[in-house]
Amino acid sequence: MYKKPFKSNNKDNTKNTKTTKANNTTKTPKSRCPYSKKCGACQMIDTPYKKQLAIKKKRVEELVGKYGKVEDFIEMEKPWHYRCKVHAVFTHDRKGNPVSGIYKEGSHVVVPVDECFLENRKADDIIKTIRGMLKSFKIKTYDEDNGYGLFRHVLIRVGHNTGEIMVVLVLTSPILPSKNNFVKALLKEHPEITTIVINVNDKHTSMILGDKEKTIYGPGFIYDTVCGMKFKISPKSFYQVNPVQTEKLYSKAVELAGLTGKETVLDCYCGVGTIGIIASPHAGEVIGVELNRDAVKDARLNARINEIKNITVYENDAGKFMVQMAESGDKADVVFMDPPRSGSTEVFLNSMFTLNPDRIVYISCSPDSLANDLAIITKNGYKAERIIPVDMFPFTRSVETVVLLTRTKGTTSEG
Ligand code: SAH
Repeated sequence: MYKKPFKSNNKDNTKNTKTTKANNTTKTPKSRCPYSKKCGACQMIDTPYKKQLAIKKKRVEELVGKYGKVEDFIEMEKPWHYRCKVHAVFTHDRKGNPVSGIYKEGSHVVVPVDECFLENRKADDIIKTIRGMLKSFKIKTYDEDNGYGLFRHVLIRVGHNTGEIMVVLVLTSPILPSKNNFVKALLKEHPEITTIVINVNDKHTSMILGDKEKTIYGPGFIYDTVCGMKFKISPKSFYQVNPVQTEKLYSKAVELAGLTGKETVLDCYCGVGTIGIIASPHAGEVIGVELNRDAVKDARLNARINEIKNITVYENDAGKFMVQMAESGDKADVVFMDPPRSGSTEVFLNSMFTLNPDRIVYISCSPDSLANDLAIITKNGYKAERIIPVDMFPFTRSVETVVLLTRTKGTTSEG
């Protein structure tokens, strides 16, 4: 039986808000989460877990079932509090009391939230502590309407396997009043915090993080491990938010690649190098390509940290890179591709066909764009051998899918 992961929330944060009143008078059946109506982040919060998976599997089948059998979901055993990247926006109520929470879906109205089913509990505790400290430190929260105030957001990243915790304070100025005492007071409550960073965002923008950063405690980043490899996570690094399922996703992707130690492997859209680095001990050579400069730097560093010698990471558009490789007559045995939500491009795919890999492992965070890309890939000499959905985001509609495509067309190299 599903157990409620937390009891009714402590509402010190919600007393003076309309949200609470609205929830109290509502006639619809009570949701498991008191914020769900306003927040909208977990659309399936009141759907039993197995049913969520059945609904999501049906969607994958509708979109890509014609290319092969959709296997059962790789599910999460304890599908809550999985988010190791937690964000809270800060503002204040009419009396000036600090409020922290999340944006109401599709708006900039802040819904006060203390605890979330999806978020790491420790991160939620730290956010509550910080909110409680603001008044005594006379720190004013930011007001989006008039641009006054210092304190905008808190972002927390937790290393699931290392236990390291990074707190990012997003402020409109790099100067935090009584900074040293603030750090001391926060660490007294949460000695498990390993680093604290100020990020400066003084723009009227919906982006959470600004460009400037100042580390005020610890190294300014954390490490976490996945599939036995160590990765550096900075405030802005792209890193999967559900570490338990990430381990399963990457292990499955590498298993499907069927590496023997000799192959030339491409890791396209490689981010901070995770998949390529995890695959590298099983491959001859790994080539990573990624557009984001910071991610490329992190990927190269991650390769060094793990003493991986057979990986090279290029900063480039994956499509352009593939064209260059194809034009130079290069070959690849295995291509991992993990494109953004919008999927890949025809330019990328056409050059990939020229490279003529034996196997393509496609990791997709959008079944819609996966369907578009599979339509092209399967018309160009590949068949979908395995289609496996992985539940990276329980209680939400999001679906991650890993697909193994193998070459069907005979080639001269095959003899
Ligand atoms: N494979 C990584 C990251 C996947 S997210 C992981 O599992 O962690 C998708 C990545 O594609 C992001 O890092 C993004 O910066 C990158 N990206 C987006 N468009 C790109 C393009 N045109 N060329 C190369 N990389 C791109």
